Amino acid sequence: MTTLSDFIRPEIQAMTAYRVADLPEGFIKLDAMESPYHPFAGAPELAGEWQRLLAEAPIHLYPNPATSGLQDALRQAFHIPQEAKIALGNGSDELIQLLTMLVAKPKATILAVEPSFVMYKHNARLFGMHYVGVPLNEDFTLNMPVLLEAIEWHNPALVFIAYPNNPTGVCFKREEVEAVIDAAKGIVVVDEAYGAFSRDSFLPQAGSIENLVVMRTVSKIGFAGLRIGYASGCAAVIDELAKIVPPYNMNQLSLATAKFALQHAERIEKTTAKLKDERERMFAGLSAIGRLKAFPSDANFITVRVPDAQELFDTLKENKILIKNLHGVHPLLDQCVRITVGSPEENDAVLKVIRALYG
Ligand SMILES: *Cc1c(COP(=O)(O)O)cnc(C)c1O
Repeated sequence: MTTLSDFIRPEIQAMTAYRVADLPEGFIKLDAMESPYHPFAGAPELAGEWQRLLAEAPIHLYPNPATSGLQDALRQAFHIPQEAKIALGNGSDELIQLLTMLVAKPKATILAVEPSFVMYKHNARLFGMHYVGVPLNEDFTLNMPVLLEAIEWHNPALVFIAYPNNPTGVCFKREEVEAVIDAAKGIVVVDEAYGAFSRDSFLPQAGSIENLVVMRTVSKIGFAGLRIGYASGCAAVIDELAKIVPPYNMNQLSLATAKFALQHAERIEKTTAKLKDERERMFAGLSAIGRLKAFPSDANFITVRVPDAQELFDTLKENKILIKNLHGVHPLLDQCVRITVGSPEENDAVLKVIRALYG
């Protein structure tokens, strides 16, 4: 006799659900690279204007992301080249899924480095694709000989490179990523979720290298709740991607909020600069503790190898601070934790616990 579960794909039944931490009241949340600041905090006039805008948003009508003006607002705020085309996603998570769908022919390959963002592999599996994970070096840099050989051998339809990488924070060498784009015959997605915090970007090249797609999001710069990501690149890819973007994939409230916020992009830049300063302060504080190894970060988090990752995770939790324990996620992440850079007060609270434990 067939049961209901016989109809559900076995590879999905074998998966475990992505767990989002449900946080008790009063916790400091430093596990998911969210901004510690509401974008309109401390600006009552802006907050008032924004609330009026939301009140007037046409929520009785379907949204039209393509004609909403958000693309132009993003282009202007983030200097996306005129020759680049843009696709909007409900978070870049949706774009990762759509890009995967775009190339999901039987036996086609997706290639990513490891450890990196887990959704690349997850989506490859979801669409029944062949997945190749190329390990990084121990210092989380690219292992170029192995990577280039894997690209030549597997001829991937899609390569994902997070630049800077998550969960390591390290930004790869630009020339090496260029060599990957050169070597790959398929699409190379440079995922710049943390681009705002980085010294370098491939966004200026979007639209002028045929197989390059630069993907970004507003999630890590203060708008994780809006769910807005964008991919920019040449028409050869973006026009095809546009065909499979669900027509109403973003909502009126998010579109209105993002457009409004981007008119005040200087506020976003100020917060980003402040968090970058805090990152440097945290890095210095952590590096001063001999028993820890903090990895250099170009993102809004720092990955640290500690004597006992579970012990640190638990001790921080007792102190109402949530971080991400990376131990067990990948062999290269042995005894590592990932700490989002928060407000100065939040970071001080973290340092205080860590110093008491390991200082
Ligand atoms: C957070 C993150 C994303 C997802 O961003 P959303 O736009 O919130 O979906 C994509 N890529 C990397 C590397 C990330 O760390």
